[in-house]
Amino acid sequence: MTDTDTSWRLRAARLSSVVTIPDWNLSLDDWKNDALCGQTDPDMFFPDRGESTREAKMVCSRCTVTAECLEYALQHDERHGVWGGMSERDRRKLRGLVVD
Ligand code: SF4
Repeated sequence: MTDTDTSWRLRAARLSSVVTIPDWNLSLDDWKNDALCGQTDPDMFFPDRGESTREAKMVCSRCTVTAECLEYALQHDERHGVWGGMSERDRRKLRGLVVD
């Protein structure tokens, strides 16, 4: 190892102690790996018109990525299904409350 290598490594070590170096392997969709609905019947989250969303919402209430899921649904304008513990109707109401 040369002096230049050592110097660079020391600087990198100091830098990493003061800034957060992003993990480039992480995707913005990594929250989906923790989606509790992935361990259940996916049809439950896309009920037919008039069917209850209660069971799906109960699963969501125990999920650890509810906020990320809801944010994704709102950003991607997902019109169908239960996302982040909210039905299509819930999300429409929420959008109505948001003032640009
Ligand atoms: S909040 Fe609900 S729909 Fe979203 S990932 Fe979790 S279980 Fe699935």
